[in-house]
Amino acid sequence: MELKIANLSKTYKKGTVKALDNFSVTLTSGVYGLLGPNGSGKSTLMNIITDNLNADSGEVLYDGDNIKKLGKSYRSLLGYMPQQQGLYDDFTLNRFLWYMAALKGLKKKEAKQKIVSLLETVNLIDSAHKKLGSFSGGMKQRALIAQALLNDPKVLILDEPTAGLDPKERIRIRNFISEIAEDKIVLISTHVVSDIEFIAKEIILLKSGKLVSHDTCDNLIKEIENKVFEIETDKESLKYFQDNYRVSNLYHNDDKIIVRTVTDNPPKGCKTESVKPTLEDLYLYVFENGV
Ligand code: ADP
Ligand code: MG
Repeated sequence: MELKIANLSKTYKKGTVKALDNFSVTLTSGVYGLLGPNGSGKSTLMNIITDNLNADSGEVLYDGDNIKKLGKSYRSLLGYMPQQQGLYDDFTLNRFLWYMAALKGLKKKEAKQKIVSLLETVNLIDSAHKKLGSFSGGMKQRALIAQALLNDPKVLILDEPTAGLDPKERIRIRNFISEIAEDKIVLISTHVVSDIEFIAKEIILLKSGKLVSHDTCDNLIKEIENKVFEIETDKESLKYFQDNYRVSNLYHNDDKIIVRTVTDNPPKGCKTESVKPTLEDLYLYVFENGV
């Protein structure tokens, strides 16, 4: 199983906005985290992969065949949770899932079995007859994930599945995705590092429509080994660091302030300690400006 994304480019507004710029990556089974700030092109990429949007150039191949050519047979193995979903607030969850099952062409018997088991999987069986409008953010996200799974997808595309969730709900969704990921290609977009840090086999960094790099979390972090420092400073000098460096963290230690930063140029003449980098540091290094 392989999804090959080859040289995708996409512009909006008559070419003035470059949302994707010659983006290529090949996915095999497992969880991939698509990491990038708002506006970096994550949703555009996902819309193209799910054939909801045409690229200006480039192609997407599933096991060697262009998804445009595969058409219906590709869609039948695809599960997609879009970022902005007009939720059917007046529908009960049960009705919503039946409706989506019909759209996906599931037979009645098949749909019935699937809906019962999915309600269990997403832990919403007690809410099946409640209206979606009454759901919390986390319940809505789980309902949306459930619809994406109705057809047992081999390729599962989740666009910011944890957006708007509190930390407890995030953890729950994260663990849940990790559980269902077996034998699937799962692509999850987020701008929150902790959503994917531990569940993704590979992280894909996307910046202004361009692929920055893709690799395991451990390998990516190696790129900034010896670039992360904790610097001892004081109130007077703090602003200098905040204005010039990528500051990931700061804390007070008696009358001293310790600033954590990721930089190619550590300051001279201060008490500076090299520390172990994290993916959060890498995110700052790639996406924030600083010396
Ligand atoms: P992300 O999902 O990472 O936030 P998007 O793919 O939504 O990024 O957007 C990438 C860029 O394309 C942004 O600059 C955004 O403003 C622009 N964009 C996205 N959709 C449209 C659209 N329908 N029309 C015009 N510009 C768009
Ligand atoms: Mg988006």
